[in-house]
Amino acid sequence: MTVETIFVGTEILLGNIVNTNGAYLAGRFAGLGLSTYYQTVVGDNLERICEAVRQSISRSDIVILCGGLGPTQDDITRDGVAKALGLNLVTDEHSKKRIEEYFARSGKTMTENNYRQALIPEGGKAIDNECGTAPGIVIEKDGKTVILLPGPPVELKAMFEKDIVPLLSEKTDGVIYSATVKVCGKSESEIATILDDLINGDGEVTVAPYAKCCEVHLRVTAKAEDEKTAKKLVKPVVKEIKSRLEEAVYTTDDDTTLEKAVVDLLLANGLTVTTVESCTGGLLAGRLINVPGVSEVFKSGHITYSNKAKRKLVSVKKTTLDKYGAVSAKVVKEMARGATMFNHADVAVAVSGIAGPDGGTEEKPVGLVYIGCSVCGEITTAEYHFTGTREKIRECAVAEGLILMRRCILEYYSRVTFGEK
Ligand code: ATP
Ligand code: MG
Repeated sequence: MTVETIFVGTEILLGNIVNTNGAYLAGRFAGLGLSTYYQTVVGDNLERICEAVRQSISRSDIVILCGGLGPTQDDITRDGVAKALGLNLVTDEHSKKRIEEYFARSGKTMTENNYRQALIPEGGKAIDNECGTAPGIVIEKDGKTVILLPGPPVELKAMFEKDIVPLLSEKTDGVIYSATVKVCGKSESEIATILDDLINGDGEVTVAPYAKCCEVHLRVTAKAEDEKTAKKLVKPVVKEIKSRLEEAVYTTDDDTTLEKAVVDLLLANGLTVTTVESCTGGLLAGRLINVPGVSEVFKSGHITYSNKAKRKLVSVKKTTLDKYGAVSAKVVKEMARGATMFNHADVAVAVSGIAGPDGGTEEKPVGLVYIGCSVCGEITTAEYHFTGTREKIRECAVAEGLILMRRCILEYYSRVTFGEK
């Protein structure tokens, strides 16, 4: 089975960006039992994209295109593919709904352009994009497979590993088996250093990291003649990763999210939890409440956006607010303390930060966030510097709130176990 890739983007052609997606995918094919003989880079031009697709499908079984799936007028990969295959573009209702939901959630205004991202060539299948808005697309036609993936590397890697690898495995001889190791509290580069030999080794098991909002997921994949053999190859590598990354691994179960892991930890220790949120405005409580069965541990929380609310609802002292400001370690500490008291909870997470785009100062810039976590009366605070849009900063603050809570609970119990308390 042969595969080839087409990278769409004038900026790649001109050398403005380096084609790291090319290197990434090429590095994955051999381990998946696929042969690859050609890579094409083409600018954002309908005729030339169409021509590139025609040429590639004439000589390879699978053609993967990357980039140009965004909402703007120069994002025309889907148009070029539809033209090359002689297919009409139709709206994929499921993707349209997902895009509308994404905009509703982020409070951004949706323009007509955004609907373009829900267009797919007739007969194609949309692939959900968990890290962005543009869905991927898979088209099977005349015995050939054409796959369209988004350009941003974070989105491309996540989609490739989760949805495309299983699809490719059906097309090659043998069986491809993957396990996911989900890691939090360590950066992608830190993990890449610790696992360097596993990630860059040329063994029969591949370890592919991809980043997901304050988390890193590692996809461990092996190809063998049957599933049992492939699983047997993957198992010791997962074990090795767990032993090297220790508690940073929060699950090896595909369906367990970070919030689920945190709720499981609370349940296992018989702890109740509450939240008191300023810049995240309820998003942290919302993420916890995503988990079915959370009612056992979460009863109530607070949104204290104004200083007045912080004082009135969770008893933050006026003097603390005046002296240190609402975005400070001292204030989140008092918020956490107040929240445990007023919501009668064992654990509290408090968040206060500057989500922007306005409101930053030299001393306290946009992206500065403090999170406090109280576990059975012991309070830990941490300072974070996030970048990006208001939405991204709030999303990161929520993820780090969950991560800090997990860390504080684990540390608290390891101290209790070792008799320090
Ligand atoms: P968007 O919705 O962000 O517009 P897209 O699917 O349309 O996504 P592009 O517009 O082609 O993708 O690229 C978006 C960004 O992704 C680029 O500015 C670049 O940073 C990155 N990118 C695209 N292609 C590649 C590539 N081949 N290698 C590395 N980075 C890439
Ligand atoms: Mg684009």
